[in-house]
Amino acid sequence: CGIVGYVGSKQAYPILIDGLQRLEYRGYDSAGVALLHNNEINLYKKEGKVAALEAEANGKNLQGNVGIGHTRWATHGEPCDKNAHPHLSHSGKIAMIHNGIIENYAQIKTELTNKGYQFKSDTDSEVLVNFIEDIKINNQCSLEEAIRVALKRVTGAYVILLIDPELPDTIIAARKGSPLVIGVGDQEHFLGSDASPMLAYTKDVVYINDHEMAIVRPGELILKNYGNEPLTPFVQRLDLDLAAIE
Ligand code: GLU
Repeated sequence: CGIVGYVGSKQAYPILIDGLQRLEYRGYDSAGVALLHNNEINLYKKEGKVAALEAEANGKNLQGNVGIGHTRWATHGEPCDKNAHPHLSHSGKIAMIHNGIIENYAQIKTELTNKGYQFKSDTDSEVLVNFIEDIKINNQCSLEEAIRVALKRVTGAYVILLIDPELPDTIIAARKGSPLVIGVGDQEHFLGSDASPMLAYTKDVVYINDHEMAIVRPGELILKNYGNEPLTPFVQRLDLDLAAIE
């Protein structure tokens, strides 16, 4: 399983597909992408290989300078199209990808179901994106703050990436127990489970630690802990080159 993300001035889709292919060695059963374009999210996902996702997306609207992509290794819910990531929130506005496991998802799912929420998938991940949106609506807070509040309740291991048309040039990421690397380019950023999706573009990377959250825009990388305290991103220059991993 793996995650990728892009914000910048390039088209996100080809970068995401290439990045997902570079992460194929991690193993997966389905793949998907969500692209932000003109205040709308276009989402494509498919059981099977990245090639199956490409066939599904072929001919559809693949525009967007902001996007997230996922390869899934099913833990909650069988491998199938509806359980593939990204998952949309109840309103259809927020798209999220998740690697890992939300251990206490069942309890949160019951609470949301009692409030009238319905779920389209069997995943623990769809519960989390709805939980985040529910907090955002109830607390009338920013997506960022809603994520912080939600993650204080959540147990398990995860890296999550979210996009929201209300934040047109932004990916919000958080991690605990699953890997996340952010590549720093010129007015662009790349996100990945490891550096392989970004090596063709930049060797300057920031390894995100547990209990850190990143707000990623083309020319800006804001790093915070879950207490909303700013952290200084530590940018390292990788000594690898792409040829070495191809
Ligand atoms: N637990 C999530 C699911 O089953 C994410 C699995 C993964 O890490 O790919 O969909």
